Amino acid sequence: MRLRDTILWRPRPIARLGVISISIALIAALAHLHTVLGLTYEFYVFFSPPIAIVAWFAGPVAGYGVAIMTTGLWLSGDYLLGFAQAGLWPMIINSAGRLLVFCTSIWVLVRLRSVLDRERQFARQDSLTQLPNRREFFSRGRQALAQAQRDGAPITAVFIDLDKFKQVNDEAGHKAGDAVLTCVADVLSARLRSNDVAGRLGGDEFALILPGMEGATVTNYIGELQRRLLTAMDSRNWPVTFSIGVASCQRAPVDFDTLMAEADAVMYEVKHGGRNRIRQKEL
Ligand code: GH3
Ligand code: MG
Repeated sequence: MRLRDTILWRPRPIARLGVISISIALIAALAHLHTVLGLTYEFYVFFSPPIAIVAWFAGPVAGYGVAIMTTGLWLSGDYLLGFAQAGLWPMIINSAGRLLVFCTSIWVLVRLRSVLDRERQFARQDSLTQLPNRREFFSRGRQALAQAQRDGAPITAVFIDLDKFKQVNDEAGHKAGDAVLTCVADVLSARLRSNDVAGRLGGDEFALILPGMEGATVTNYIGELQRRLLTAMDSRNWPVTFSIGVASCQRAPVDFDTLMAEADAVMYEVKHGGRNRIRQKEL
């Protein structure tokens, strides 16, 4: 995992629970250390990192919860160390100040995390259709191909270019063109299985990766997909059809770029052969 991926790691619930538990254990140990070392050391520097880690990886609710717990433990430590002799108000004001500092830090961290997450999502997603963009599609496609190679499983790449799409833009306007693209993306997404990947490669070009699919299954799947796409266009009176190139391989012998180049080439054969057809090639 790269550093950026580690920093923006989104733990699953069980891992999130692990992060919270370890941080709580660490804070409890630090609270004990506080009672041992006395009031000489400034404990912000020790308590802050585990609270920040919880807020960053497990979210604001867990972060604020752990901050309240830490403030309580810190206050108990002060009490055990005899700070109560200084009176009730110093204890209340110190604790309120600590909680305020923790909560402000959590708020800043959570805002920063959300900005970074959004920026990361925009870098990977096509903003119009919400599908993975070209870069993200190729990245996921390479992962899918590597997995298929490990499993000795087949894999299929599908390249789809809309026919006469410019006509919609020219006759009905760019907004209608955008609606066509969004509609196509919705039809593609509705047909995806959990490991399939759909992407918008740019303009009116879309692509699919179908791991584990080959032969007649692909033929049926793509045939049904084409029917759904054409029905969606027909029902809105859009004159768009689809040139579809399919490249499948039995045992994923090639690299992903080659697989996509084959699907692209097959799609262009359809384009030059009159459009609105599916052509399938076995590698
Ligand atoms: P062909 O049948 O040969 O594929 O031609 P086409 O009319 O489908 O047009 P082509 O594929 O050559 O070009 C795609 C056009 O899509 C060019 C561009 O103006 C338009 N386009 C690209 N991105 C967008 C977009 O985000 N929204 C809209 N509305 N149009 C777009
Ligand atoms: Mg086109």
